[in-house]
Amino acid sequence: MSYCSRMGAIQAIAEKREPMPKAAATADIDFYGEDVFNEAVIRNYLSKPMAEKLLSTMRGERPFEPSIAPAVAHAMKEWAMSRGATHFTHWFQPLTGGTAEKHDAFLERDKAGNPMMELSGKSLIVGEPDASSFPSGGLRSTFEARGYTAWDPTSPAFIKRHANGATLCIPTAFCSYTGEVLDRKTPVLRSVQALGKAVSRLMACFGQKPQHTRVTLGPEQEYFLVDKEFYYLRPDLVQTGRTLFGAAPAKHQQLEDHYFGAIKPRILAFMNEVEDELWRLGIPAKTRHNEVAPSQFELAPIFEELNLAIDHNMLTMQILREVAERHGLVCLLHEKPYDGINGSGKHNNWSVTYGGRNLLDPGDTPQENAVFLTMLAAIIRAVNLHADLLRSATASAGNDHRLGANEAPPAILSIFLGEQLTDVIDALVAGKSRKNTQSRQMVVGVDALPPLPRDATDRNRTSPFAFTGNKFEFRSVGSSQSCSDVNVVLNTIVAESLDYLAAKLEKLPKAQFNAGLQALLKEVIAENRRIIFNGDGYTEAWRKEAARRGLPNLRTTPEALMPLLDPRNQALMAKYGVFVGKEMASRHEVFKEEYERKILIEGKIALKIARESIEPVVSEQLLHLAKTLKVARETGVKAGAAAVAKNAKRLGGCYAELDAAIENLTLAVEENEMPAIVEAMAKLRVAVDALECLVDDAKWPLPKYREMLFIY
Ligand code: ADP
Ligand code: MG
Repeated sequence: MSYCSRMGAIQAIAEKREPMPKAAATADIDFYGEDVFNEAVIRNYLSKPMAEKLLSTMRGERPFEPSIAPAVAHAMKEWAMSRGATHFTHWFQPLTGGTAEKHDAFLERDKAGNPMMELSGKSLIVGEPDASSFPSGGLRSTFEARGYTAWDPTSPAFIKRHANGATLCIPTAFCSYTGEVLDRKTPVLRSVQALGKAVSRLMACFGQKPQHTRVTLGPEQEYFLVDKEFYYLRPDLVQTGRTLFGAAPAKHQQLEDHYFGAIKPRILAFMNEVEDELWRLGIPAKTRHNEVAPSQFELAPIFEELNLAIDHNMLTMQILREVAERHGLVCLLHEKPYDGINGSGKHNNWSVTYGGRNLLDPGDTPQENAVFLTMLAAIIRAVNLHADLLRSATASAGNDHRLGANEAPPAILSIFLGEQLTDVIDALVAGKSRKNTQSRQMVVGVDALPPLPRDATDRNRTSPFAFTGNKFEFRSVGSSQSCSDVNVVLNTIVAESLDYLAAKLEKLPKAQFNAGLQALLKEVIAENRRIIFNGDGYTEAWRKEAARRGLPNLRTTPEALMPLLDPRNQALMAKYGVFVGKEMASRHEVFKEEYERKILIEGKIALKIARESIEPVVSEQLLHLAKTLKVARETGVKAGAAAVAKNAKRLGGCYAELDAAIENLTLAVEENEMPAIVEAMAKLRVAVDALECLVDDAKWPLPKYREMLFIY
């Protein structure tokens, strides 16, 4: 690394010419979903009765019938081959944070030993990958290293293309030999089922016949793009996904000129290709725009059923990375690639429908309003009682830089309802009429809610958990995180609160239902009112107020993971069959270990950069100044000598600080002490960033923020 490489990178970027994209004469979406084993394909490749059976399983209406597995497998293979696939893989989501795949060719030998292409029913339904190298948190000992992948028929198989071939991907759940969960999909499926049961139970109280519950998710994905030329000159980015050094540039995001700004042609070309790929996979990418920070962007899909939406988000992250690569860019999904400017999150828009009706939509009739208010009360209770568990699901080394840094919600969980809805529930609790309206009291199940304008509910971006008209938006999720963990918690705690309410409602005589419901909602909301906060979540005043209210403030990952070990939380998850036995404790182990490994890697690479790249240029510059000073003195250039001496003194001082910070971090890394490493890295960063502002620009080895954030 040197000035030459930095300037070379800039030169190369300046000379890059994206071919002017040729707009098609007409736009169409004929290719939408063409790489998905979807309903149309199923009807095309399977007999009518078999297609019906499979489709009803995919809709979650009935369990899979194993007898149709060979036919389904055959159909899948035929279709996949017709689209160029030679291999298949069970595609799963281990606790590494990403996805995993092990490809097998369709190749088999017939009895005579001749090659043939086949996919058996068994290969479709189960796989037995060696699980020993995936994190298990002690659930799996090496002598029983086998894991199982089990087909999830509710998420359709799809085809992933590469340069000269394609692979059939079969979404699967992943568990240990003894059936313990080792992945992020299984608990989602379990929690959706738990919530579905609880919703049906509640709706029965309202006299509704059993219907299908759908949990929906729309994850808004934020990301950064950086030119590959710069990326490879930053070992910190390559190894950790974030920059560990970098002085603040004069201009960063203070002019607020990037958000929703015109999208550069090069970025648009990238976005178009991403959308093409996503649409081909039936992933409904809808919205694209520039985000707040320079070189930061967002992609939002149309919401889908939760399990599918999570699979699709995992694929979206992968496709963002792959397509960026083809455009000479690197997609940074880290929560905080750059210090001092906004990081990236993933807003988790969540809702529940019953028989097609969104239960978080206040609706128009008194009956719909009553259901809505009951759901609302259940969610308020759930988040208040289990704020710690919800927070734990957002804990990660990367997200620690975001939560509470006044750019993303604080680490304190609270609910934003908006003024009007808060008025409604306060009126309910007070048993009085709402202000600004007729003077009579609103009776749940009899009166209609006043209309709640949607835009009035979405102005507060500082809240971690906001009601946005017909859904809740959980904003604490990190950009690189799977949405699985938060929704597993959310589904389960809401199921528990719905059961709590249903158990009381079931006891009410029919004639007293409305009055009883009113009293119950009043009680539940009053008891859990402390979790509602409509003010500015970034302020110190809120931190104090939250502490007064007794709300947990779990600032860092090690603290935030502790709720996973709380027997009360473990009992709750076990009651709903979401995490049983040692499953939650094992997750604690996995996530804690992941955190520690990441911090240690950061500490080590920070040291390497400081020693191998920064120190040499600083000492060289010092030597240069010393020589200059000598010459200045010898030649009697008095004023010049004074200036050089001043410079050398300043640089020497910073060098001493760098040296001390390196010593400090070396010690912390040797002792493997996490808080000490985090603190020492911060100190080292201050020293290095100060030097960046003193050392000859021509000698500075690392691409600077002003370059990475703006030159692309
Ligand atoms: P914003 O939050 O920026 O105002 P939108 O209102 O468009 O944006 O919604 C953001 C995300 O919420 C989108 O992915 C959208 O599909 C999703 N969404 C909308 N309605 C629902 C719903 N009922 N359930 C889940 N997600 C939803
Ligand atoms: Mg949003």
